[in-house]
Amino acid sequence: MNAPDTAFAFDAAIREAAARVNPRVVAWRRDFHENPELGNREVRTAKIVADHLRAIGCDEVREKVAHTGVVGTLKGGKPGPVVALRADMDALPVTEETDVPFKSMKRTHWNGIENVGIMHACGHDAHTAILMGVAEMLAIMRDLIPGTVRFIFQPAEETPPIGEDGGARMMVEQGCLKNPDVDAIFGLHVVSNDTTGKIGYRSGPFMASADDFRVFVHGNQAHAAYPWSGVDPIVIGSQIVTGLQTIVSRKVDITQEPAIVTVGVFHGGVRHNIIPDKVKLEGTIRTFNEKHRTEIHEHVKRISEMIAAAGGGKADVHIHRWYDVTVNDPALTEWSLPTLQRFVGGDNVRTIDKVCGAEDFSFYQKEVPGFFYFIGCTPPDRDAKKVPTNHSPRFYVDEASLRLGTETLAALALDWLSSNGKR
Ligand SMILES: [Zn+2]
Ligand SMILES: [Zn+2]
Repeated sequence: MNAPDTAFAFDAAIREAAARVNPRVVAWRRDFHENPELGNREVRTAKIVADHLRAIGCDEVREKVAHTGVVGTLKGGKPGPVVALRADMDALPVTEETDVPFKSMKRTHWNGIENVGIMHACGHDAHTAILMGVAEMLAIMRDLIPGTVRFIFQPAEETPPIGEDGGARMMVEQGCLKNPDVDAIFGLHVVSNDTTGKIGYRSGPFMASADDFRVFVHGNQAHAAYPWSGVDPIVIGSQIVTGLQTIVSRKVDITQEPAIVTVGVFHGGVRHNIIPDKVKLEGTIRTFNEKHRTEIHEHVKRISEMIAAAGGGKADVHIHRWYDVTVNDPALTEWSLPTLQRFVGGDNVRTIDKVCGAEDFSFYQKEVPGFFYFIGCTPPDRDAKKVPTNHSPRFYVDEASLRLGTETLAALALDWLSSNGKR
């Protein structure tokens, strides 16, 4: 049997299995939505996932990987390669404002702020439920599967709490792509800026790298009426903010890729008539290639330090590298399209613009070829360009999109194993 025949033979079985698990995928997603947990705190979620993976007969279920991650392995009935599917499990410190019956009422203490809500405002509840559904579908079909499927449920995609490590980088470090070695990985994200039934993707650089920087500007405190007797870090900080604007406009070859430097925090001073001793700036850097990333880091540091020195002060610059560029392997992307098109129709699978948001799926893609795609989750009767975005307290997932998630992820895994990544 050649690859396409095998793939098509699987389609009917996939659709049937997806229909069968769908009511429970919806129920799991509602349960996770009502009981969201922040990064590295996904204890309840992880237990439900691990119990499920054991119940459906996974050969191995590892828990507490990268704190709260769960890794399941399902060996098919025939020998073959290894494919991984990934979901993220964490929620966000957002106070939910939707009126769904399973609205989150959970509250927490976050970053010094009391009584902040916790909400699955990025749809990771959907991702976790979808992958649980896919795991069950593939377990039903396991005798037919030529190879092994690895299910990766990772914590802390939205970055771990301050001072902690975690997420995809740590999952990789703790061996989630090993024993047996994974040959390719797939993942998806629900997005509200597209309609249910639509899939968006991009070959090559897809989502940005994300790094944050902090600049502490040290001046010399003085009476505000006698500025010559001190060094004013507010003026220096203001010049640094302006100076940083020249990085993307003057220093980066933006014909290659876009880039972003944004200052999001400017803290300093306590009183109108005091020049403070120091101010703090914080910002984010987004790029689509490593060269730009390295260059921008150097420019942020040099511009901040030189401007501060010119004003008689000093700047301490700290840059933290968070996520690498999410790069979809071009060959794997090409390979994936026919599978996606079979399930949603050719016109509904579309290349989209680069995304300045970031994803730690990038860390898996550094190890093995990976393909990450978006599925629309806004009901067709609403305007996907006007609805609240991911991370909004009014973010809304159309449950009909879950079915598309289970079908396409299962199909990608089965097609890939059947064909060993070839068409
Ligand atoms: Zn998010
Ligand atoms: Zn997300």
